[in-house]
Amino acid sequence: MPPAVPGIRLREMFEQTFPAKGLTLVPQQKVERLELTEGGATLHLKDSYGDVVIETDATILATGRFLSGGLQADRQGVHETLLNIPVRQPASRAEWYRSDYFDPQGHQINRSGIEVDGHFRPLSADGAPIHERLFAAGILLAHQDWIRQRCGAGVAIASAYKAVEAASKIVSG
Ligand SMILES: Cc1cc2nc3c(=O)[nH]c(=O)nc-3n(C[C@H](O)[C@H](O)[C@H](O)COP(=O)(O)OP(=O)(O)OC[C@H]3O[C@@H](n4cnc5c(N)ncnc54)[C@H](O)[C@@H]3O)c2cc1C
Repeated sequence: MPPAVPGIRLREMFEQTFPAKGLTLVPQQKVERLELTEGGATLHLKDSYGDVVIETDATILATGRFLSGGLQADRQGVHETLLNIPVRQPASRAEWYRSDYFDPQGHQINRSGIEVDGHFRPLSADGAPIHERLFAAGILLAHQDWIRQRCGAGVAIASAYKAVEAASKIVSG
């Protein structure tokens, strides 16, 4: 998919501006495993030099939906790929789509995603945060239909702002 101009600008920020502020970018690699620990999490990934292990005080999950690999769908339903976080989704596959593609109500599958509390922390099946220091942002979140509302970038930016704010408050006590 050709990148949008804001995407190119954002990437330039990640590569040129943010490192000066202490950010380390591991480009083009996906976290293969995420272990939640008492004080945060351990992320496991690989780059061209081998294994990379990152210890975090807080983690913000922003892995997107189907196109980016944050969610995966099979005949049984929709799954979150890294931690198997419960995904809010239609009760059966028959309810994923309405018969009219252009139905103004949209399609239920496009509201699938993970649910969070007021601090943007993903919820387990019993409705409690999965971990004090695990946060989520972006279109991975349930209930918003960015495809119909054309608000994907807005959802990503606004929810990331709130998740970072909450993470920073919780980590700093
Ligand atoms: C064709 C198209 C047109 C669009 N047009 C518009 C528009 O006009 N207006 C608008 O507002 N929105 C639009 N959107 C939607 C917008 O692009 C998304 O809503 C927005 O990018 C969502 O941001 P996000 O950060 O939540 O997820 P994404 O942008 O999907 O980013 C998720 C990132 O996580 C990475 N990732 C996934 N798994 C892992 C892992 N295990 N480890 C590390 N990284 C991982 C992925 O590689 C990806 O880079 C469009 C989308 C598409 C596909």
